[in-house]
Amino acid sequence: MSMVSLDATDGLKSLLRKMADLTAPKCAGTGGVGSCNPPHSCCSPEYCEMTLGYAKESWGVELQRTEHPRLPLMGPLGCIAEPHLRPLCTLHLCKINGLGCTGDKKFDKAYFKLRDEINTALYLRDAAVEAKTKKE
Ligand code: SF4
Ligand code: SF4
Repeated sequence: MSMVSLDATDGLKSLLRKMADLTAPKCAGTGGVGSCNPPHSCCSPEYCEMTLGYAKESWGVELQRTEHPRLPLMGPLGCIAEPHLRPLCTLHLCKINGLGCTGDKKFDKAYFKLRDEINTALYLRDAAVEAKTKKE
């Protein structure tokens, strides 16, 4: 396989931003069928810790912990990590993870199409990061 440069994987940022925008109404409880009830209920400290490590290791970004009593990356306006720095959280949607679909066919089609693109881009980025690390 030809080696992919880290710069060539920058499209991943916009793909994960698109995913965050797509899922936001579901997570806020306003996206109709398959929406969260209660809204924004699945964040947990271990995912914040994973995000802190991934952001540093894969993107060279040192995220600052917030004052939140339980979630180190939760700020007053929501998660302070950009969507590409927390791919597990960005891709997570409880109905999809638990049941395999939300019941909203149009949404599910868009979600899985985007998720396929993201998985490919994530794979290429991980390979590029690994190659860079080996060189250093
Ligand atoms: S992933 Fe599920 S539980 Fe978490 S905020 Fe979104 S809809 Fe709610
Ligand atoms: S979305 Fe942000 S605050 Fe919530 S678990 Fe993930 S990293 Fe933590």
